[in-house]
Amino acid sequence: MSLFNSIVTSALPILPKWFAKPFARPYVAGQTEDDAVTHIRTLNEKGFSATVDILGEHVLTKEKARDITAQYCHLYDRILNESLDCNISMKPTHVGLNISLAEAMSNITTILKKAQEHNNFLRIDMENSPFTDQTIEIYHHCKTIYNNVGMVIQSYLHRSIDDILLLADDQFNSRICKGIYKESEYIAYQDREEIQGNFLKLAKNMVTRNAYSAFATHDQELIDRLLDWIITDKVPKDLFEFQVLYGVPMNGRLEALLGAGYKVRVYVPYGPDWFDYSVRRLKENPKIISYVLKNFFRKR
Ligand SMILES: Cc1cc2nc3c(=O)[nH]c(=O)nc-3n(C[C@H](O)[C@H](O)[C@H](O)COP(=O)(O)OP(=O)(O)OC[C@H]3O[C@@H](n4cnc5c(N)ncnc54)[C@H](O)[C@@H]3O)c2cc1C
Repeated sequence: MSLFNSIVTSALPILPKWFAKPFARPYVAGQTEDDAVTHIRTLNEKGFSATVDILGEHVLTKEKARDITAQYCHLYDRILNESLDCNISMKPTHVGLNISLAEAMSNITTILKKAQEHNNFLRIDMENSPFTDQTIEIYHHCKTIYNNVGMVIQSYLHRSIDDILLLADDQFNSRICKGIYKESEYIAYQDREEIQGNFLKLAKNMVTRNAYSAFATHDQELIDRLLDWIITDKVPKDLFEFQVLYGVPMNGRLEALLGAGYKVRVYVPYGPDWFDYSVRRLKENPKIISYVLKNFFRKR
């Protein structure tokens, strides 16, 4: 990382929000539900499916958790009324897991019942390791209510292969991603090659068990390795999809995947809490700072 990018990334949290906005814009589909719907419609018109997320996490009051729950329910109505090809992804701590397991269970049950009413799908995102067991418990509870619910397995965690061996069958639906949080070397692989290798191992185990996978990665080398295996082993196309985050540059790869007949879903985050999310994105890829600045000055 260049010194300049490193300084800007460290300083962003203490700089005024107007300064951070140009850096955040590529990754966030706006602040309102209307903004998100506009972006989702455009993605659908290009052939992409979507999953929408209201930005935020670690809510500390029941009032806020229930307000977010109501917003998610409203989103399902909107998706139905506007005939969007879109489901919902949601973080348990955004709807109360930091307050109590009971609060999160109750709110997620409300959201799930709305998904069921509209025959839609709910993806429960996976947060950092203190929440993994509780998130799996929530997932099990959800499954007793409605089948169209999925979770996430992170390939950097040592435990993930055991989770798949325990959970995966033809009714199991999981996103597989590397994992975005800082985790200790005692529970998580730190080496890029090991995380990539485990991703493939998890993917293969999912398919062996007829479980549905969403391969969520921007890593072009990993996508190549997945495709090699998919083509060689003739993995049925209805057993998986590819997923990416909104705004991450993919250099035509997504269109190529669509062209080859694969399903591609874009994760579309929106909401007034865009700031923390964007700082996290920038820390992950500080090169974006130089790209945004170059574009900024080119326009002038
Ligand atoms: C649809 C989706 C849902 C996710 N859900 C979860 C979840 O529930 N829990 C969880 O822990 N993690 C989640 N993640 C994040 C994931 O775990 C990784 O941290 C993230 O995707 C980066 O890993 P990578 O596989 O893209 O590979 P990397 O090797 O990290 O990235 C490959 C290349 O893509 C570029 N890149 C990657 N990410 C970004 C970015 N955000 N902005 C700009 N450029 C980028 C980088 O330039 C890099 O060179 C999700 C990711 C996706 C795509």
